[in-house]
Amino acid sequence: MEYVIRTENLTKKYGKFLALSNVNMSIPKGAIYGFVGKNGAGKTTLIRLLCGLQDPTEGWYSIYGIQNNDKRIIQSRKRMGAIVETPSIYMNMTARDNLIEQYRILGIKELDGIDELLELVNLAGTSSKKARHFSLGMRQRLGIAIALVGNPDFLVLDEPINGLDPEGIIEIRELLLKLNREMKITILISSHILEELSKLATHYGFIDKGRVIKELSAQEIEDLCRKCIRVDMDDTGKLCKALDDYGVEYKIISNHIADIYGDIAITDIVLKLAEVGGKVENIYNKDENLETFYIKLLRGDINE
Ligand code: ADP
Repeated sequence: MEYVIRTENLTKKYGKFLALSNVNMSIPKGAIYGFVGKNGAGKTTLIRLLCGLQDPTEGWYSIYGIQNNDKRIIQSRKRMGAIVETPSIYMNMTARDNLIEQYRILGIKELDGIDELLELVNLAGTSSKKARHFSLGMRQRLGIAIALVGNPDFLVLDEPINGLDPEGIIEIRELLLKLNREMKITILISSHILEELSKLATHYGFIDKGRVIKELSAQEIEDLCRKCIRVDMDDTGKLCKALDDYGVEYKIISNHIADIYGDIAITDIVLKLAEVGGKVENIYNKDENLETFYIKLLRGDINE
């Protein structure tokens, strides 16, 4: 697999405070990588390092295979666009003038592509309106347009949906999916809004107290969170007996707990179990999502 970002034992200390501790992370090319953690977990610190705004205390990272201590990292970083904390917008300027300014900052002389960028982020109709009169969602989209100047193929967004209203969130979601699917841009997005992230991310990294505690794909999470019926009963041996003929998939968790998958009604299970003399203590639909997965992860209920 080709990776846009790799880190190895990446560590950042602020004085004695360990903000990042031996972080090993891999962001596959083409991914929307959801970087999940509570406030203060270390998300922005990692992003600041990747953007070259701060240096690691120990360990290394690479961008497109070039390590941070290699001079060519400057070239690699040109393939990257980022919003760190808040978008860098000139509030007294229009969307177009903000983009022109970014072209100037990056030393791009030809002002081609501005109309397309404004169109892409749905700000083409804002003409002479100054950014200070924009909604938060419009500002975020302008921030993304600014980050896209220079045609990066890797976009880093630090909490881009914080504080947005539902409509604003949907607009950002649609924009990011378009950038990823149509324009093949790899995206690193940090957030603690898990429900939204689950609509976007193809991969996840979970960070807590400066440590990446788990990295896995959305598919792996889906498999772990698969819908099932959990039955707590006197003897799961009886359940095997009752269900083997029935042809439904199940998994024995312990000698009294089992998970049953597939299209089967709770009543049918109870009836089948009654036929073999099984006594049900408890039976319920188990429907986990990213949020419950994350809580379990933080509690240490999910192992390597
Ligand atoms: P997140 O983005 O996940 O909310 P941050 O990376 O901003 O977390 O912060 C991680 C920890 O590092 C926090 O405890 C924060 O207070 C601390 N921190 C961040 N920047 C600095 C700094 N410049 N000096 C000292 N401590 C810092």
